[in-house]
Amino acid sequence: MKFHPAVAEFEKLVSNNGYRKTVEEWLRYSWRWATREKYKLVFKIQAAALRAIREFLDSQGFVEVLSPIVGPVTDPGIRGAKQAQIDFYGAPYKVMSSAILYKQYMAAALGKIYFVSPNLRLEPPESIYTGRHLVEFYQVDVEIYKGTYRDAMDVAERLTTYVVKYIRDLYGKELEKLDRNLWEFKKPFYRYSHREVVKLAHDLGCRNPTNGELTWECEKIISAYHDAPVFIYEYPKGSRGFYDREDPQRPGVLLDFDMLYPEGFGEAISGAEREYEPEKVIQRMRESGEDPTNYQWYLQMLRELYPLQTAGFGIGVERLTRYLCGLRAVWEARPYPKLAGIVGTP
Ligand code: AMP
Ligand code: MG
Repeated sequence: MKFHPAVAEFEKLVSNNGYRKTVEEWLRYSWRWATREKYKLVFKIQAAALRAIREFLDSQGFVEVLSPIVGPVTDPGIRGAKQAQIDFYGAPYKVMSSAILYKQYMAAALGKIYFVSPNLRLEPPESIYTGRHLVEFYQVDVEIYKGTYRDAMDVAERLTTYVVKYIRDLYGKELEKLDRNLWEFKKPFYRYSHREVVKLAHDLGCRNPTNGELTWECEKIISAYHDAPVFIYEYPKGSRGFYDREDPQRPGVLLDFDMLYPEGFGEAISGAEREYEPEKVIQRMRESGEDPTNYQWYLQMLRELYPLQTAGFGIGVERLTRYLCGLRAVWEARPYPKLAGIVGTP
């Protein structure tokens, strides 16, 4: 188990009584640190990472598409976070927790697409202790028409490898100032099925339900156990949103994946093949507690564009920046950071 020093420092900070106060001040007076040399560099690296992402995806034939900001529905599969709502001319609209449901028809139109989209999630209060959860964050959201989740994993692997190399080439010297020893990613990344990773977590002393997402604690341990990125694939049904496709040959097994950064930085990416049979989608909605009548346009779209078979993933931009720069937490990787329950900040 090897935690990056910045991750270890974060753990120490969290265990102090004064942690909440430290974070509140960090958020409340964010101009004070954002104007320091260190963070000027961080935000330049963030801009370069976005440039690298666009360069890579554009070179692979992806088309950047503008994402919606609000809509009648948004991603319900957000692990305990709440959605924010606005009054849209008398109709309750949601602010995008992720624009996942809106990617599919533009993928049908253009083949391979991506958003650079702002997301809002009212995360639970305990999320301020993970170092990985903001309330406002950006996601690069990728979708491939007629792709499989293996295709999406392949793009994720090549994309992150490209970005790390780009930043090393451009900022190698400056990264030393951040005490960041950034290793190039080597393909193939580690790969475990969900079943295998739960067993590994148990062997490392972290108990995880066999039918659920990795807990935040086990995710951190699996991440720290590896010196290179880790794919976890085929999550059990019930652990993810209704849109992750269930394998028709293996009921209960989802055709999806996560990618974790090494060194204890935790989750980088979630992705999947999409459920697209309208009747099956309705069944999955019901099973996950969603009311299909709220998803009228989505179901109509699935019928009209049948078979709307796509796969894709989302990568968080602040988490990527945290990893590239070796920062303590995501709130150091974003101007105007917002965390659960902390109000009155820029
Ligand atoms: P999800 O579909 O919930 O896994 O979100 C997709 C990606 O967005 C994740 O893999 C993270 O990189 C990022 N992400 C999700 N939630 C947050 C959050 N609260 N703060 C920062 N990044 C997030
Ligand atoms: Mg996820």
